[in-house]
Amino acid sequence: MAERLQKVMAQAGVASRRASETLILAGRVTVNGQTVKTLGTKVEPHDKIEVNGEPIEGAEKKVYYLLNKPRGVVTTSADDKNRRTVIDVVSDIRERVYPVGRLDYDTTGALLLTNDGELANQLMHPRYKIDKVYIAKVKGIPTNDALKALRLGVQVDGKKTAEARAEIVKFDKHKGTATVQLTIHEGRYHQVKEMLKAVGHPVIKLHRERYGMLEVNDLLSGEYRELRYEEVQQLK
Ligand code: URA
Repeated sequence: MAERLQKVMAQAGVASRRASETLILAGRVTVNGQTVKTLGTKVEPHDKIEVNGEPIEGAEKKVYYLLNKPRGVVTTSADDKNRRTVIDVVSDIRERVYPVGRLDYDTTGALLLTNDGELANQLMHPRYKIDKVYIAKVKGIPTNDALKALRLGVQVDGKKTAEARAEIVKFDKHKGTATVQLTIHEGRYHQVKEMLKAVGHPVIKLHRERYGMLEVNDLLSGEYRELRYEEVQQLK
């Protein structure tokens, strides 16, 4: 969204709006390398604003990426055991992005990465009921009662989980395994594994195929893509 230059400068903590106007009139502000002396010039979030030749804080372009997280990668920016992190996977992204929420080391699939802290906090808030769709390969074949329990909520760490969707996608009687699609809206620690364990079906393999409306299955493991403008708007 375009905003007045002096407002963006004030929001970034450069100076008050009035003092920012003085800086603009004095020719000390550039937008994308061009000196701007007109008050009320509108700038977009991706414009590069410099004051006295220094980029202003918070003016970094907001970027949003969807990663198909590979197995064997931690979802933190730095790992004390020196394991590979999702930030290593996306090292081509110039902006300093962070993962929105967590996927376990051995979980694959949809992970949003952004430098938009405000949106990240909003999405991680439990009130914000974003669909997270998981495909879990489990031991055993869940009965209808087990599926019903998953849907209505099971006890995890002494607290019942919220309503969820649960379906069997396929099963292998011979191997005694099933693939379950579980859609949850919360983001508790190891939630999917704990829920399935609670109904007697430990998870063998876990993949998140969708985060909100962001489907990951058209990306190969370790691939990522920038979100389209409409996709970002839909998340907000
Ligand atoms: N639930 C889990 O148990 N693990 C994940 O990685 C994500 C959800």
